Amino acid sequence: MDFQLRCNHLRCREKPKDKAVVTTCSHIFCLACSDSSTLGAGDSAARTCPACGTPLEKPYDVTVAALSPTDDYKMSILSGLSPTVIMECANSGLAFWAYQSSQEIYYQEHANKSLKQQLDAKNQELGGVKGAAREQIGGLEEALHEASDKIHKLSRSLAEMEEGRKSLERDRNRYRVSYEKLKQKALVPDIENAAEENAAFAAQGGDFGGVRTSRNGSVGTDYRARGAHKYR
Ligand SMILES: [Zn+2]
Ligand SMILES: [Zn+2]
Repeated sequence: MDFQLRCNHLRCREKPKDKAVVTTCSHIFCLACSDSSTLGAGDSAARTCPACGTPLEKPYDVTVAALSPTDDYKMSILSGLSPTVIMECANSGLAFWAYQSSQEIYYQEHANKSLKQQLDAKNQELGGVKGAAREQIGGLEEALHEASDKIHKLSRSLAEMEEGRKSLERDRNRYRVSYEKLKQKALVPDIENAAEENAAFAAQGGDFGGVRTSRNGSVGTDYRARGAHKYR
């Protein structure tokens, strides 16, 4: 059996090494725990078990047990005793071991139960955290979806505005062409008049088409100005 005894002081639970203090109430303590309790006191009348409180007044109610006895010790310790006494001693030793085993099993079961409860509580907590995180992620996804929708709408508006701008640009170009044509058309009579006027001036001996002083005293070749002077 791989079971190993532990000090029955619940806050200690050390594995006693070579020696341990054992009691007739089937408890065992490490030397340090024994020394710090009434077991270590010189007065046997004052001894009580630190684990169960049983009074341990008789001389052999508390003994120091060698946990790794030597061969010579094993050879001699029961020698001289009758088989009945040997069996009584052996039965007591086995009962002690059985009690310690059952106590350890109970302790481990309780520790496992406690660990499981803690684990369940942590899992529940984790479940809550996961739920909150899922909810937050859902909210963020919704916000992202809305933002994406807004971006698409803005993109569409931008495309429409760009289309409008291109349309305006086309209109502007069309109007510019029309304007140029109209302007050209409006200038034709002026050009014709200016040409006729200059021709008449040349016929009277003036310089045709060059830089000259006009009849109204201005200097230059701006026939449009002269045309305007006459026809406007
Ligand atoms: Zn101890
Ligand atoms: Zn006890």
